[in-house]
Amino acid sequence: MKSCCMQSVPPDSSYETFGQPVLDWKARLTAGLNRSIPTTNQTMGDLERQIVQQTQGLEQKLLEEASQRKADQSPPVCPVCGHQLRQVSHGYERTYQSRFGPVTIRRSRGWCKRCKAWRFPADYALGLEDTGGASPSVQEMAALLASKMPVSEASAVLEHLTGVKLPPATLDREARRQGQRAERKRKELDEQMSAGKGSAQCVSIGQQSFTLVIEIDAWNIRERDHWGQSEQQRAKGTEPERWHWVYGGTCFRLDQRSQTDSGRPIILSRGTVMTRGGIDALRQQLFAECLRQGAGQAAEVLVVADGAMWIWNLVADRFGTASQRLDFYHASEHLWAVAHALHPDDARAAHQWIEPLLKKLKAGRSVQVIAELKTVTRRLRAKRRVAAQSQLEYFQTHRDRLDYHIAKKRGQPLGSGAIESTCRQYQCRFKRPGQFWTRSGDEALMCLETFWRNGRWHLLFPHSSDPAKN
Ligand SMILES: [Zn+2]
Repeated sequence: MKSCCMQSVPPDSSYETFGQPVLDWKARLTAGLNRSIPTTNQTMGDLERQIVQQTQGLEQKLLEEASQRKADQSPPVCPVCGHQLRQVSHGYERTYQSRFGPVTIRRSRGWCKRCKAWRFPADYALGLEDTGGASPSVQEMAALLASKMPVSEASAVLEHLTGVKLPPATLDREARRQGQRAERKRKELDEQMSAGKGSAQCVSIGQQSFTLVIEIDAWNIRERDHWGQSEQQRAKGTEPERWHWVYGGTCFRLDQRSQTDSGRPIILSRGTVMTRGGIDALRQQLFAECLRQGAGQAAEVLVVADGAMWIWNLVADRFGTASQRLDFYHASEHLWAVAHALHPDDARAAHQWIEPLLKKLKAGRSVQVIAELKTVTRRLRAKRRVAAQSQLEYFQTHRDRLDYHIAKKRGQPLGSGAIESTCRQYQCRFKRPGQFWTRSGDEALMCLETFWRNGRWHLLFPHSSDPAKN
């Protein structure tokens, strides 16, 4: 943005800047409120609503005037390539939905020879989009609400709280547009990190040596990308696929684990990734996020996850030197499967068999646990033997990931509960009963949610946020 178009616009929305209209409004408002206070039995809530109603017209006017001034001062330069625009003409009116109601702005248009496109420099200067009719604040409202709740609810909440009328279909379109912008931003930030140019994105780390913990998991989401084509697909012999994996990861420094006053475990600072874009997308996003959280400086990197092989392949590929740990809860579930195969009708005997083994597992005596599994597998026959054999293989596969005694000694997590609860939180929005997504829709809104969680919302909506507060 050229600095010349900023200078003559008020640096803030100080009322003095707008002179007479504000004085008129003050008189009107005072008179109106004085009339209403003694005659009715109002709460402060009534007064809040009344003041908002009475000032809205003024806010709308102020926004329109200031925006028009800024539009008028935008130089005739292509906002994409910086080339001087040709055939410039004026007076192209467009109305935008703002937080104070519709505002209309007249803009200039010019031809960029280099881009071979018509450009409206004022749109760029004001943060407006070619295709959307929402002001930056309304863009933000749509993005934030739709990433937190279904759009029909979001539309009603928005109107109820702010008076901004955005029908569900419009809100949905705007939120997706913002989500796609967030995806492009994420890609740009991740590429900077991976190219070694992302130091400004990194969290600040002291001199102390630290362990970085990475947890990885997946869940599934229901999509229906081919509306009305299911029968055709079936006729061709392919059953339409509805359920798809969403991959997630989180990373944090071990010293960032803490507890609330009531004893609930919390992580003070961490980075999260969540994507429907496949394992490759997860690998790239998680690697960039780990670099942001200090993977390059960590004395130790530790990965904790369940037994899914794609996870450990990803870890070998991208975090080859990391320590690895199988989630204890998953390990114990697999041991329970053997207990049930041994004692299908005797819960007490199953308990008696498993309890010393769970203790051994926790104490790091996994060699003894595996030896016991081998012994009992030999004793079983038929189906029960097959069941126990597959569990034995599971423990043999993960034999080097069962160092639970070390976890205890070093105050490290035994399990991947942090990412599991994060996945559940995403599911509260993205896995509601009766919900179907499209691939592009779910990824866009999940990306917005992730920017919010990671405290990077201000990178998408610089007008709105104090980064420390979101
Ligand atoms: Zn251009």
